[in-house]
Amino acid sequence: MIRRELSKAEITAAARKLGAELVGYAPVSRWEEYQNLREEFYPHHVWPLTKTVISLAIPSLFPIVETKISHLYRSQYNNTNSLLDKSAYMLAAFLNRNGHAAIPICRDGYGVGVLKEKPIAAFSHVWAGYYAGLGSIGWNHTLVTRQFGPRHRLVSVLTALEIEGDPMIEGNLCNKCRLCEKGCPTQSFSGNKQDKYSNMEKAACTNRRERFKGPFEHCGFCLKVCPIGEDRKLYKSTDISKYFNEAKSFAAWSSGVGANISEWRGR
Ligand code: SF4
Ligand code: SF4
Repeated sequence: MIRRELSKAEITAAARKLGAELVGYAPVSRWEEYQNLREEFYPHHVWPLTKTVISLAIPSLFPIVETKISHLYRSQYNNTNSLLDKSAYMLAAFLNRNGHAAIPICRDGYGVGVLKEKPIAAFSHVWAGYYAGLGSIGWNHTLVTRQFGPRHRLVSVLTALEIEGDPMIEGNLCNKCRLCEKGCPTQSFSGNKQDKYSNMEKAACTNRRERFKGPFEHCGFCLKVCPIGEDRKLYKSTDISKYFNEAKSFAAWSSGVGANISEWRGR
């Protein structure tokens, strides 16, 4: 295999061609410097050759996110998942082909049962995106970006190639409006204004998912309600109050008809 030097611009262009809208670079030293995670979740502990993490994001198109809970969103979710894994795999293959060892870390793919038992992942794409300068950690534990707020999906490529890191976001893109907390039908978020981000009761959200598998498993009020993101302006979506009526209806409906849904699913 012939080793060919690749510039950062070349790698970014390759990632964009493969479908990534946002591309950021994080040297592994940032995990050590900021120590937000336990050591076993550092990328160079996951794969010892890692020198740089390339974070890739694909937007969840806002008008489709707004239709949640819907088959339209479910389809978008499945499509973005395939695209994420394919983009990361092909970018890693591109780096390897040019003599730079790389592996993709697939997008989050939890089984609900596993998530309930042990709600942690071997690698956090959200923190990778944060260290790669793509966004801030939001009150709702998502990566809040300038372009799409929290309405995107992430994947990562670990590489042995040393690439200059992108500047991290200064300050916080999340304005702590806590609309995500107010809209959550399972009251999964809580905390005080001075906290960096909320306490999240992951089990509450997971239990909802488990109860309403199929088209109803994708709730996402905490994504569509977030006021941050250029996508909201692009699609001229400024009325946030409507989501609260939806959230209330969903909470009332789900507590009232859960048994019927189970019967319906059993048919
Ligand atoms: S809705 Fe408000 S508090 Fe929640 S993530 Fe977005 S900006 Fe932060
Ligand atoms: S997906 Fe729905 S239930 Fe889960 S945290 Fe977000 S708003 Fe709450």
